[in-house]
Amino acid sequence: MSAAAPVTGGCLCGAVRYTLTAAPVLTRQCWCRLCQYLSAGGPTNNMVVPRDALTIAGALGDYASVADSGSVMHRHFCPTCGTPVGGYAEPRPHLYVLRIGTLDDPDLYPPRQTIWTDAAPAWATIADDRPSFPGQPPAPPTPSPGTA
Ligand SMILES: [Zn+2]
Ligand SMILES: [Zn+2]
Repeated sequence: MSAAAPVTGGCLCGAVRYTLTAAPVLTRQCWCRLCQYLSAGGPTNNMVVPRDALTIAGALGDYASVADSGSVMHRHFCPTCGTPVGGYAEPRPHLYVLRIGTLDDPDLYPPRQTIWTDAAPAWATIADDRPSFPGQPPAPPTPSPGTA
């Protein structure tokens, strides 16, 4: 199901703005060690969206690293204010991972899963009202060609 109106968001300083015209494929919270760096010690809260439904305006910095899976991951951020905006994995360029905190209305898409709980610090609070995984769950399904 698509949202009735395009969903908008951006970074703290406003140099990066985006418009999203499709609902997320999935939403989840990630406690992996890398996400703890991005989030000042907490998890990141993410929505996986179809790349072709997302229009981003403004320059993004790009930091690439090799994930535990062996995939090269790109993390995008605003070079002016440092807000982590999103990123993608090279094997799945048709999907983009947007940080829920960059939505103009972060209540729109709450995280529905928690992943990498084994990497969380001892003081972390892990929500018990949604599925959680100790590590990386299976990758989201690849959209079939020809489907909207
Ligand atoms: Zn910014
Ligand atoms: Zn993570």
